[in-house]
Amino acid sequence: TQYGEKPDIIREKSAALYEKAKSYFPGGVNSPVRAFKSVYGTPLFIEKGDGCYLWDADGNKFVDFCASWGPLILGHNHPKVREKVVEVMQNGMSFGAPTALENELAELIISNNQYIQKIRFTSSGTEAVMSALRLARGVTGRDKIIKFEGCYHGHSDSLLVKAGSGLVTFGETSSAGIPKSFAAETIVVPLNDRDAVTKAFEQFKNEIAAVIIEPIPANNGLLLQDKEYLEFLREITRSNSALLIFDEVISGFRVGFEGASGYYGIQPDIITYGKIIGGGLPVGAYASSGEIMSHISPEGGVYQAGTLSGNPVAMAAGIAQLTELLKSGFYKELNAKTAEFAESIQRYASAKNYKLKVFQIGSIFWISFTDKDKIQSADDVDAAGMEKFKVLHRELLNRGIYFGPSGYEVGFISSEHNKTELEKVKRSIFEALDIVFK
Ligand code: PLP
Repeated sequence: TQYGEKPDIIREKSAALYEKAKSYFPGGVNSPVRAFKSVYGTPLFIEKGDGCYLWDADGNKFVDFCASWGPLILGHNHPKVREKVVEVMQNGMSFGAPTALENELAELIISNNQYIQKIRFTSSGTEAVMSALRLARGVTGRDKIIKFEGCYHGHSDSLLVKAGSGLVTFGETSSAGIPKSFAAETIVVPLNDRDAVTKAFEQFKNEIAAVIIEPIPANNGLLLQDKEYLEFLREITRSNSALLIFDEVISGFRVGFEGASGYYGIQPDIITYGKIIGGGLPVGAYASSGEIMSHISPEGGVYQAGTLSGNPVAMAAGIAQLTELLKSGFYKELNAKTAEFAESIQRYASAKNYKLKVFQIGSIFWISFTDKDKIQSADDVDAAGMEKFKVLHRELLNRGIYFGPSGYEVGFISSEHNKTELEKVKRSIFEALDIVFK
């Protein structure tokens, strides 16, 4: 083929399933980004995952870098996780009553994380963050929160808010169906901007309950912040008696067992978790000091509940997965492997003068079509580069490599991505880049 493009993969079965799905679900999906709107083609319907591989309905095999959007740090269908889940399922799947498994997972987490003392399990990251905000408001008796443009915290009402036109503004809703009065409680500021946060605290003195941030923003590309900036947020929240919430739904157990808090050595007031904590099953959590958590019902006045919270099967998956992560050298090896992978792609692109930067932290990486050495705010992301990402995505699928279907999404490497496979993937990425930049 021209320029060395490979023929597009066959997706007849996926396409037929997608047609059917469109008659059942809005846009044919149960979560919007799955619809492949930002890349070529129709969504692949996945039939099976094992280790670092995925198979779609047409039998195409891919090396997977989406990892179900982050939870699968041990790859797909890890035997230890599967066996524990199957074992626990033999005794039933949900009781709506306490089980020893909740204690076991909490013990694993809390005894290995110096930043938290008590935890509450939920069934998703969205729920965890929504509850953390309610807790912060309940503890401080204040209503307003500060969030950052370019951070995603799930789809609860007060968080689907984007920056308005001014520097320090009340946000505008970024979804229909959100009352303006909710958005009015959310102040949106740019990342990596001290003045904006300082001004917000001046303007709304004694009104701000919390500042919420993804300490490793990974939902709008990978917008790595300076440690000093996170420390500044710690100081300014403390001196204004507001709480600092780290949303570690992605970074938690990803950049290390203690997540970004441990990575930067910063003590937030509340931390939210999701994804990895559930081993691929639906789990979220929020955690804090014993004192702050004592405000939650039934101990305190902040109500939060869930029929499936602490579900035994989900706890089992979390226990099995986190036990593996605690094994000596786990993160060292995974992070080194990812750094090496990112560096080789960067070296290739630089040698060819391609306008491309690979950002990486822990086992998270992001390929950005830019020449900036640092991208630390949403405004710095080169939107024009997304056209290049579309081509890259297609060329990678054609070479058996699955990336999340948007250039704003990061990639994840798991313990199952072995060196031999990563070498092959790198060569395919080089080929694909030659086509992107032809
Ligand atoms: N917070 C962050 C940082 C996330 O990345 C996500 C999901 O991607 C969420 C919250 C919401 O989690 P969930 O999709 O499990 O509701």
